[in-house]
Amino acid sequence: MRSFPIFVSFEGKPPLVVGGSELAAIKARLLLKRAPVVDIAAADMVAELKSLAEAGLVVLLPPRPGIDQLRGRPLVISATEDAEEDTRVSAMARALGVPVNVPDQPDLCSFALPAIVDRGDVMVAIGTSAAAPVLAQRLRAWLERELHPRLDSLAKFAAEYRAPVASRVPAGPTRRRFWERVFDGKPAKAVLAGNEPEAHRLIGEAIEEAALALPQEGRVLLVGGGPGDPDLLTMKAVRALKAADVIFYDRLVGAGVLELARREAVMISVGKAKGEHSVPQEKINALMIERAQAGETVVRLKGGDPLIFGRGGEELDALRAAGIAVEIIPGITAGLAAAASLQIPLTHRDVSHTVTFVSGHGLGGTEPDFDHLDLAALAGGQNTLLVYMGVTTAGDVARKLLDAGWKATLPVIAVENASRDNERRISTTLTELAEHPEELGLTSPAVLIFGEVAGLAAAGVVEDILSLREVRRVYA
Ligand code: SAH
Repeated sequence: MRSFPIFVSFEGKPPLVVGGSELAAIKARLLLKRAPVVDIAAADMVAELKSLAEAGLVVLLPPRPGIDQLRGRPLVISATEDAEEDTRVSAMARALGVPVNVPDQPDLCSFALPAIVDRGDVMVAIGTSAAAPVLAQRLRAWLERELHPRLDSLAKFAAEYRAPVASRVPAGPTRRRFWERVFDGKPAKAVLAGNEPEAHRLIGEAIEEAALALPQEGRVLLVGGGPGDPDLLTMKAVRALKAADVIFYDRLVGAGVLELARREAVMISVGKAKGEHSVPQEKINALMIERAQAGETVVRLKGGDPLIFGRGGEELDALRAAGIAVEIIPGITAGLAAAASLQIPLTHRDVSHTVTFVSGHGLGGTEPDFDHLDLAALAGGQNTLLVYMGVTTAGDVARKLLDAGWKATLPVIAVENASRDNERRISTTLTELAEHPEELGLTSPAVLIFGEVAGLAAAGVVEDILSLREVRRVYA
């Protein structure tokens, strides 16, 4: 049973345990962690339950409860250890819409009991969908060690200040940051150390400070989301994702990267795939400026590095012109990720001394536009060319290079979806690519590496166009 965790209130009717055995006592004890009273429906009770009844914590009801005893209960646990009776209670509870649990009988349960770490107002419930109770127990033991024993005091302390803070500190990012500073800073430390008077003094000071402070300044973080694998993000990028109020992200950003975003952050996709409907650049700029001016922390999350072929420069200009504070967090650009995955160096003492990053598309157009590049000067080898956005123009790129005098047999490797689970690599040569670009069967996103380094031994599986053609010829 894949289930969703919630926290149930026992403020109305008490929960009901059916059965009076040891098992029923274990369940009653668990419920008494939060329930003021637990009702037990049983013919007889073990000693523990009897003493709980004497203390007023358990109330004994007649066995075989009927519809009227079940209706309106926050939950029912049937622990009679009599299969027929448990089935009857389960069916009745389900018909009434009352959550029911029968220990070790998942088929009879509409909810599962979690492993619990109890710190008063702070409670951690662990579930493993009944797949691995031992794992849940180990996690609980670990959390018991990790979570401060005085967490409850901290939660109560914060609750006490909720209203005063709400009336003095402006809502939104300013207030959120206030609380982050309280929990990460000295007031929380003082509470956890058991020094409540000091904690009250410190939070009082913090409230005065926050109430007097100017409204929170908004800012934009231009963040490199890397090629797709979340492990390739920088620590700074992860921190930015966790601090964001709003995130504008491109289609190229990996799903695993987006999962690291702060849960409360507003996620806005701004598209940016070739030929796909996307938000126009001016609109993206305007939205970012508007949000930052409202005091929010805006993350502009772009694939790879934000300043390589990502129109990051234009966004930077627009933000600066609007007087918005900007920070840039670099990312691993696709070409570098592809080379790392292949384990081929982009510069190499013997064969390459320069690396050139080029776009396979001209400004706004679809034709390659290398006119600004002196391709003939680079033709002498000793250079590596990384072509981005070249999936549909790879053949044209190769022909331009041949025209400029580049070596006909120069090795070329294309890498699709570098660093992702579906990464694919294909090797060919300049002439082959110029003549049969479709043979690569390339899909976007892909980078192409032109240069002698593409002929060095690569790690992992590389599809070889020439061998593939030979195989097809021989077995045709
Ligand atoms: N700022 C990005 C590039 C954006 S332009 C960066 O630094 O990587 C978009 C182009 O990047 C795509 O057309 C493709 O050539 C390349 N690209 C982005 N992610 C890629 C990936 N995971 N694998 C291969 N190429 C990728």
